Amino acid sequence: MQRTIVTSPAILSQKSEPATKNDVNAARDLADTLAASEGRAVGMGANMIGITKRIIVFKNETENNRIVTMFNPEILEKYGPYEAEEECLSLEGSRTTTRYRRITVQYQDADFHTHTAEYEGWPAQIIQHEVDHCDGILI
Ligand SMILES: [Zn+2]
Repeated sequence: MQRTIVTSPAILSQKSEPATKNDVNAARDLADTLAASEGRAVGMGANMIGITKRIIVFKNETENNRIVTMFNPEILEKYGPYEAEEECLSLEGSRTTTRYRRITVQYQDADFHTHTAEYEGWPAQIIQHEVDHCDGILI
């Protein structure tokens, strides 16, 4: 189910709680909301729909823009810093921040199996932005 995008800094600046199996429906709503934001968003953290749990979704351009859902994503390693300019559906305007070209991320899938994966370039940048949302960091 598509949900309304939250723009309240008070909600967006909260650090999210670990996600559990009870949050699988919330994650589906998050993916539905991203799918409905075609052309306006490439990823979302759950707090953007008012759910302060560590869940992110993003469109993976290396997989034909399939929406990937990650529970409890954690960036284990990062290489190659660069300055990126980013926008956010929850915020006005754009901001610059440091991102990394290649990351190793550990996460759980909807069955709560743990995976470790490497991403580079655009998907890596999106994941870093959405993990920041989980930490209450607004970019
Ligand atoms: Zn954002």
